[in-house]
Amino acid sequence: MKLQSGITVVKNGQLVDGTGRPAVPNGAVIITDGIISYAGPAADAPPAPPDARIIDAAGGTIMPGLIEAHIHLTYFNVSELQDLDIKFPVEYVTLQSAVNAKTALECGYTAARSGGCLHNIDVWMKKAIEEDMIPGPRLSTSGREICGAGGLMDWNPDYRRIGMEGIVFIVNGPEQARGAVRKLVKDGIEWVKTYPTGDAASPDINDHHTLCMTFDEMHAVVATAHNHGLKVTGHCRATEGIRNALKSGYDAIEHGTFMDDECLDLLLKRNVPMCPGLGFELFSVQRGKEFGLSQRVLDGHQETLEAGAESCRKVLKAGGTMGLGGDYGFAWTPHGTYAQELTFFVNYVGFSTLDTITCATLGGAKMMGRAHELGSLEKGKLGDVLVVAGDVLKDISLLENRDNLIAVMQGGLVKAGTLVKPASF
Ligand SMILES: [Zn+2]
Repeated sequence: MKLQSGITVVKNGQLVDGTGRPAVPNGAVIITDGIISYAGPAADAPPAPPDARIIDAAGGTIMPGLIEAHIHLTYFNVSELQDLDIKFPVEYVTLQSAVNAKTALECGYTAARSGGCLHNIDVWMKKAIEEDMIPGPRLSTSGREICGAGGLMDWNPDYRRIGMEGIVFIVNGPEQARGAVRKLVKDGIEWVKTYPTGDAASPDINDHHTLCMTFDEMHAVVATAHNHGLKVTGHCRATEGIRNALKSGYDAIEHGTFMDDECLDLLLKRNVPMCPGLGFELFSVQRGKEFGLSQRVLDGHQETLEAGAESCRKVLKAGGTMGLGGDYGFAWTPHGTYAQELTFFVNYVGFSTLDTITCATLGGAKMMGRAHELGSLEKGKLGDVLVVAGDVLKDISLLENRDNLIAVMQGGLVKAGTLVKPASF
């Protein structure tokens, strides 16, 4: 991805640097050839040369670009599980994914970690973004997911004679689990996404207390993935699924809904990051009815919402690592509404705005394994900066409205925001 050459100064706003440190009331960020060379009080900033490009935060907030820690670029307008697979051909899903990537960047998300995709679209989306062919967040890729036979993602009845071609490998036993990972190794992905547990979306046979993979299958996935330098994560709601994931060596946990004390200890022992993806539960409860979700499904989402919020509070209190985001692309949580996750964490879960921003920036970068170059405004990191009109610490919901974004910057280049409206990429 291109870097802005020369010197850019972002000033005239409070600096929220993403590390969790208190805001600097009058801050400045200096970006030299795309890399941050200074971030701190404006009064201490080195003098800028006369030809420096100036970005005026207009008394608002200067913060790191947001990081979506569990994005599905290939999901759009999903209203039931069946919409996730081969509802559309790969050609159309690829185009839609490119649109979603552009939308994410325009919403202030300069990086994103995939939570799974159809076919092998992430890998090629990442290449297109990195080569500046299309605009989008710096991407950490996933691929087709892995689920045990009869589990959450194995929904086509056998009499239809349709496999799960797009989204998932259905595996029976460790040998098939290894085979699926080996396919993914060849695909070139970074994260192997698995389904250790079910979900409220499937109340009859795979609800949120059901296991969808055995420990042996999960361990086979981890051993094979780690052998080839890939990382493993999983959709973990039931307590035993979380425990199995942590004991078998998972590198991250998605959701972590029913986290007991033993799981929390295991999580902290290896500092395994977690992406709760929790807003989805509340938005499903609030808006699911109009999209035909049954009362049983809604009740399940209510249960996972409450348990998930408690888990998040426990993990935060214990000093664990969390990224924010998750599962946008459903009909009631469309792409472009990602930042409501942050408002939800402040208003519903009870996180402070500063903690919420830290999770949504540096937390996401840690989950991506790129905290050395992304996620906070510190010297030596990439100039991925978000400039927002207004005081985000007072009102986090400002981030939900793209009109409040003055500049969305990657490597010092202004890619979106009111400074370049309409998008000039
Ligand atoms: Zn997901």
